[in-house]
Amino acid sequence: MRYKFCPQCGAELTEKEIGDEGLVPFCPECNRPWFDTFSTCIICLVVSDEDGECVLMKEANISKIYHNLVSGFMKPGENAEETAIREVKEETGLDLEYIESAGTYWYGKKDMLMIGFFGHAKKAELVLSSEIDTAKWVPFEEALTLVAPKGAISYALIEKYIEKIKNEK
Ligand SMILES: [Zn+2]
Repeated sequence: MRYKFCPQCGAELTEKEIGDEGLVPFCPECNRPWFDTFSTCIICLVVSDEDGECVLMKEANISKIYHNLVSGFMKPGENAEETAIREVKEETGLDLEYIESAGTYWYGKKDMLMIGFFGHAKKAELVLSSEIDTAKWVPFEEALTLVAPKGAISYALIEKYIEKIKNEK
């Protein structure tokens, strides 16, 4: 989001040259710049390596057609790893054994930075939060056919994980 008015005092912002950043919205009253902001979310592919399966869920407010992965907004004070562990617990009831970074992704449609993780868990029954309509364990290759197609972040994470375990064999 690019600010037009100062979030602190409400004054209309001007623009000011700030170092290498170029022209940045600036409040002449508070004498400070307001850099563009965006939401930061985690997205986590929960995997059971023993079973070769991952968790897919359906949430009507995300998509009526495609399955999706665990995801959620970061809260102030959390690091991204803590968010991932918290969201997986909230949405699936699973405790992760360990997590790995899976890259970061810009989601332009919603102006969001998505921080990707692979979350390793033992396969167990899923206990869903009320946000989630359904969830299930699915073999990796099948999961690729159930999420939004190539170009989507969910797809990219599953594809990356399949590549990774192939290379580790
Ligand atoms: Zn101001």
